Amino acid sequence: MPSSRSRIVNIARRYVHQMRRGISKIKIATTSRIYALARPSRPVGVPDTVTHGPGGPILIIADRNRPFSRYLAEILLAEGLNSFEVIDVANLNRSTLRDRDLVVVGEVPLGTVEPGLLSEWTNEGGHLVLIRPDARLADLLGLRGPMASLSEAYLEVDATCPPGEGIVAEPMQFHGTADVYEVRDAQLVARLCRSPGERTEAPAVAVREVGRRGGRVAAFTYDLARSVVYTRQGNPALPRRRSRSDAPRRTSTWFRGSSDGATGRDWIDRTRIAIPQADEQQRLLVNVIQYMNRDRTPLPRFWYFPRRAKAVVIMTGDDHGRGGTAGRFESHQAAGPVGDSSRDPRLDWRRVRSTSYVSLDAPLSDSEAAAFDREGFEIGLHVSTRLRGNRGRGADWTPASIRMFYDRQLRQWRKKYPSLPSPVSVRTHSVVWSDWATQARVELEHGIRFDTNYYHWPADWIGGLPGFLTGSGIPMRFADLDGSVIDVYQSATHLTDESGQAYPDSVDTLLDRALGREGFYGAFGVNAHTDDPQSVVCDAVITAALHRGVPVVSARQMLEWLDGRNASSFDSLERTHDGVRFTVRVGTRAGGLSAMIPASCATGPIESVRRDGAAIAFDLERIKGIDYAVFQATAGSYEVTYGSEETAAVRQTEPMAERSTS
Ligand SMILES: [Zn+2]
Repeated sequence: MPSSRSRIVNIARRYVHQMRRGISKIKIATTSRIYALARPSRPVGVPDTVTHGPGGPILIIADRNRPFSRYLAEILLAEGLNSFEVIDVANLNRSTLRDRDLVVVGEVPLGTVEPGLLSEWTNEGGHLVLIRPDARLADLLGLRGPMASLSEAYLEVDATCPPGEGIVAEPMQFHGTADVYEVRDAQLVARLCRSPGERTEAPAVAVREVGRRGGRVAAFTYDLARSVVYTRQGNPALPRRRSRSDAPRRTSTWFRGSSDGATGRDWIDRTRIAIPQADEQQRLLVNVIQYMNRDRTPLPRFWYFPRRAKAVVIMTGDDHGRGGTAGRFESHQAAGPVGDSSRDPRLDWRRVRSTSYVSLDAPLSDSEAAAFDREGFEIGLHVSTRLRGNRGRGADWTPASIRMFYDRQLRQWRKKYPSLPSPVSVRTHSVVWSDWATQARVELEHGIRFDTNYYHWPADWIGGLPGFLTGSGIPMRFADLDGSVIDVYQSATHLTDESGQAYPDSVDTLLDRALGREGFYGAFGVNAHTDDPQSVVCDAVITAALHRGVPVVSARQMLEWLDGRNASSFDSLERTHDGVRFTVRVGTRAGGLSAMIPASCATGPIESVRRDGAAIAFDLERIKGIDYAVFQATAGSYEVTYGSEETAAVRQTEPMAERSTS
């Protein structure tokens, strides 16, 4: 037994160790600094991949005082373009640009020398993407202006040729302000529109060849990052709530104009709701990047979901204490394929799995819950902000009260379910969302990193229209009002049993557009209440999914996948004389990860993909207008070679997809 003196020394050492851990977290955290100080043991930092990037040939120029510029990193991660580095504009100089293939400059203020530096670099052969550029770069872009600005309007992509090819051709909304330029000498990729029917000649996106050394420049004349965040999270200018009215402010309130003190104009134009507007615009950025880099280093990407799934159903249900959860889980065990018995059921995406958010008075016992948890089902908390009693809808919260609700109810939940892991995903009763981002922060403070509150509702507004309230089918991290990233995934609930949606039509439409030519890929969230064991909505969704080979998973499974995928990266990427070489690092629980790389480059079409020296199989697939070679991304060293035009001509008789070897 240690003496009291050595015990004290040990305690002191532990304390110092914890302090150090806290301090290292503070260094990487761009958000929640105060929280990191106060609670060093909690996972509050934003991962390094967002703040600095995994590294690679793409350089993002951001500004710590303009956090939206850092959201570009989250956009590239979501698109699987995991080979970038983020630096602060203060560190932009000749040497940071050296050896970069492509530089993306966020909406950041440039000093006196930077515009000249960027122009020079582009003229020397650099590839430059500018987000709402500094007017001093108009000449480089082949634009004149800006002569005016246009806010809260639309853009229309020219989908007839690259890089717009493959992106939806119908006008899409953007949020924030665009600068209006006149095109002098540039290719118009997308034009600004005042309304869906009112086009202008001003570019929303333009590209241009620069100089004689292969330089290229592109511009988004609006802040894409800000627009993506606003599209996903709703109107940031919704007035502060003054009095507590009877109806709480819910997630849909942030998108619906007529509700709750807003101007009367809907934030989401309901005629656009079928389009994942945020996803399509960030994919346009990816297409622009690939287009500009096409004769340089072909850039690999990770696919969105395991085993190349184009759609996933995230099956969840809220249980208000009526006890349907156990019966529902049992029906899911019987519903799908039994899966691979050698695999941990929590990781096996072939089985039908789901989440139930249970109220504290749900009759599910700890041992029952633990058995379902081992089988891969997720039991979470249906947090309630009801003020008293057990019936009725939730009430508006304040930053203080929402912390209190989470603290108290999670404490009770853990006491009731000591055998379960603490919840990592959540849906709040009545999807109450009283301010822009506090609830996401509170979730993070409690170890919850997956939010399903953004909800396709109500029936009399958007219920009958299948689509994307948040403009997205892809879970991505929240951003605060200033654009700083919060390490919690916002995953929309697209299908519910209380929005007047028709089944199976609603689910069929979403899945068919994900799998079909539209390419509206997505993780489609469902709330089929688990108050009762039976649910016709749940049955219809599972039938539609299984029929199409679409996985049905719990929210926790999706979170684990996202963390694994986003911790994966393409490292040491370098050009070779006939292609590109890189290593793939695979994050934990990123089983079924696949990668894709443009199927042709300057020298010709793809010839082979080798992993650790051995040729591996690949398929050719057109994704958003670009032909990619798609292959399994297990860890290893890869070498991709491209043939010359001559070798391509010789092989013309052989279809390329069949040339893949295994
Ligand atoms: Zn509820």
